[in-house]
Amino acid sequence: MKQIELDGSRGEGGGQILRTALSLSMITGRPFVIERIRAGRKKPGLLRQHLTAVQAASAICGARTEGATPGSERLSFQPGPIRAGDYRFAIGSAGSCTLVLQTVLPALWFADGPSTLAVSGGTHNPAAPPADFLIRSWQPLMQRMGVTLDIELRRHGFYPAGGGEVRATTAPVTAWRPLDLEDRGALCRISATGIVAGIAADVARRETARAASQLGALAEELRVLPASEGPGNTLLLTLEYEKVTEIFSACGERGLPAETVADRAAAEARQYRDSAAAVGQHLADQLLLPVALAGQGRFTTDVLSPHLKTNGQIIESFLPLRFGFAAGERCVRVSLG
Ligand code: ATP
Repeated sequence: MKQIELDGSRGEGGGQILRTALSLSMITGRPFVIERIRAGRKKPGLLRQHLTAVQAASAICGARTEGATPGSERLSFQPGPIRAGDYRFAIGSAGSCTLVLQTVLPALWFADGPSTLAVSGGTHNPAAPPADFLIRSWQPLMQRMGVTLDIELRRHGFYPAGGGEVRATTAPVTAWRPLDLEDRGALCRISATGIVAGIAADVARRETARAASQLGALAEELRVLPASEGPGNTLLLTLEYEKVTEIFSACGERGLPAETVADRAAAEARQYRDSAAAVGQHLADQLLLPVALAGQGRFTTDVLSPHLKTNGQIIESFLPLRFGFAAGERCVRVSLG
């Protein structure tokens, strides 16, 4: 099969190009080569998270690779058949478990039997979906599309210590159901959950109180974990609507006031809340590939991010399809078929 040539500096030049290519190469059996991996990032090339994603993909489909080394800016990937199994992958740093999981799960939907996956590393990282987001926002939509999936957060892991674990059970999809998510439905509940491990509970309290001052009345919840799972802090803002649950998050950092952490998450939540879109920009990123696998579907999102556009282009280079992106009333319509 003809090798696909990808430019990792395209669009934002981030890791998503590599992850989407790995997923689709496994599923379609098409080999690819990618140059200038993550050229748009401060530290380009394969970091631990990306390398683990490559190794996980290789293990699942017996791929032949060249360039799968730390820091590499070029990778060639020649996939073999996808094999169901019980897999365990360790990132060995606080690299995001959820991004590794999301790279290989779609391939297991095309495997020859059920599989389990355990990934250890970071579960609550900046610039990646927190495990709670995968479980409460993404997973229900995958199930609605016909995917058998059960994701479990076994242990929290925060940047930079890591040490968390996420597990998933999945099975081949027998019948895809196209996603039709034009609107979010009525608001059911808003909550702010402050998570702390090895950090004063007051930090989480200040974050949830600030979120309430930014978003209006909401349920304030604290998740105080054993210090051995830290140190770490994340704030989750959960907006539950009839048809979708959205989670906006921000991670605490040394020297960053709790109020600033809350303001970051609240700004994203407000942008989404004040739009007419069904999903926010991160969930939109993570729906594009499953919609492509289902062959048709539609949803609305609040902004057309460069990340979403680039991801669409990578999918289109593996599959014979074209996404439609159209401006709607206070939202962007994304459609296929
Ligand atoms: P890298 O940093 O590895 O180069 P990248 O360029 O793909 O990766 P991002 O675009 O920042 O990095 O994000 C990676 C993925 O994580 C995207 O699917 C994005 O939507 C998702 N993501 C980032 N932040 C969040 C968040 N707070 N909640 C949910 N998903 C998130």
